Amino acid sequence: MEIPKNMQAMLLESQRQPLRLVEVRVPRPGPGQVLLRVSTCGVCRTDLHVLDGDLTGPKLPLILGHQIVGTVVQLGEGVDRFTLGQRIGVPWLGSTDGTCRFCLRGQENLCDNLKLTGYTLDGGYAEYAVADQRYCFLLPAAYDDLEAAPLLCAGLIGYRTYRLAGEHVERLGIYGFGSAGHIIAQLAAYQGKRVFAFTRPGDVATQAFARRLGAYWVGGSDEMPPEELDAALVLAPVGALMVAALKAVAKGGVVVSGGIHMSDIPAFPYHLLWEERSIRSVANLTRQDGEEFLKLAPQVPVRTEVTPYALADANQALDDLRSGKLDGAAVLTIG
Ligand SMILES: [Zn+2]
Ligand SMILES: [Zn+2]
Repeated sequence: MEIPKNMQAMLLESQRQPLRLVEVRVPRPGPGQVLLRVSTCGVCRTDLHVLDGDLTGPKLPLILGHQIVGTVVQLGEGVDRFTLGQRIGVPWLGSTDGTCRFCLRGQENLCDNLKLTGYTLDGGYAEYAVADQRYCFLLPAAYDDLEAAPLLCAGLIGYRTYRLAGEHVERLGIYGFGSAGHIIAQLAAYQGKRVFAFTRPGDVATQAFARRLGAYWVGGSDEMPPEELDAALVLAPVGALMVAALKAVAKGGVVVSGGIHMSDIPAFPYHLLWEERSIRSVANLTRQDGEEFLKLAPQVPVRTEVTPYALADANQALDDLRSGKLDGAAVLTIG
């Protein structure tokens, strides 16, 4: 396959400015890297946090996007996990050093020298992308390129968030029913849990969506569930939801935040935390999370609800995500 010299990319030149469609050089795969012809790339709330300046460490200029589905079209030196023509996925975890104390104890998601796709490495809002082969995944054949994209962050990091809620959860709250919420609700229902879905107050469309995906109860985030929850996942970037969720969980319950950024958590009385309730966050993902989730997803089977956008309409996709207009996930269709 002939690889052109240049490609179209939606470039972030500085934060708080719209992305610009530009022509840039097609990257060359270095040792251990593959070059992908990008087919689709999911749009994640984290992209919005980078664009809006909530996250302060991006490389600039930057190509956003860390839910990349593409075909391997060129192999860097020493690549042995994949072959030309294979379809693979590239997640947020771009590379780790493998040697720091976090890596050595199996917490590569917390690596001291983490590199992140679409943040400190160029991502997939472009026709081509390079990725370190060790952090890419083969994708289940049951998903087409459009459906597969949201599995790569909403699915993977959603799964880690869900996993850290613990094993003995029967009643699971999900606060914020977007891209990650709609995927995890299906998995939780499949595993016999009762899902209590909380949306923006009055958002009846998303409540109906949650019900359709198997939620046992739906309501506004200002409501108390009819039963105490065993655990709750907070998947919207709103600190007050951590307190709302803490109020809704039973003794010993955990509230897990799945996002990379949220507004301040308001002060709350100690009695909400008393009786061994806890709150915690989830950062990034490990490759093991990815392998586990991508094996589980087609068994459920998790269906992803997707709204496609052209590459040139990436700003529109981000705006729609910001305003909460989307049910499910926004995905750029590129090649
Ligand atoms: Zn490390
Ligand atoms: Zn993401």
